[in-house]
Amino acid sequence: MGNMHGTVYRNGKKTQVGYGVSATCEHPTCIEQIDRGLAHLCGETHGDTENGCGGYYCDIHLYMAPEGQTGYRCILCRDRGTDPTLDSPDAMVATFTTS
Ligand SMILES: [Zn+2]
Ligand SMILES: [Zn+2]
Repeated sequence: MGNMHGTVYRNGKKTQVGYGVSATCEHPTCIEQIDRGLAHLCGETHGDTENGCGGYYCDIHLYMAPEGQTGYRCILCRDRGTDPTLDSPDAMVATFTTS
């Protein structure tokens, strides 16, 4: 089983994945050109939604997986379960006011 190219289902849609598939970073405001290789995957295997979201991100929007896990994570998945305002300048901070 090589990981050069393949098809996964994401959100009910077929998605081509692999090193040869060019794509754009899935971070909302990012236009960085990437490929859909494992090096850009949020998760551990293509189509993985257990450990990550299965999205593909550029280097600056990927972070090392938490200790004991492999691969990379996007900021949202990395911070899942922790306070996103801690130690992540990229996190979106929403301020709500109650009147
Ligand atoms: Zn993710
Ligand atoms: Zn990016």
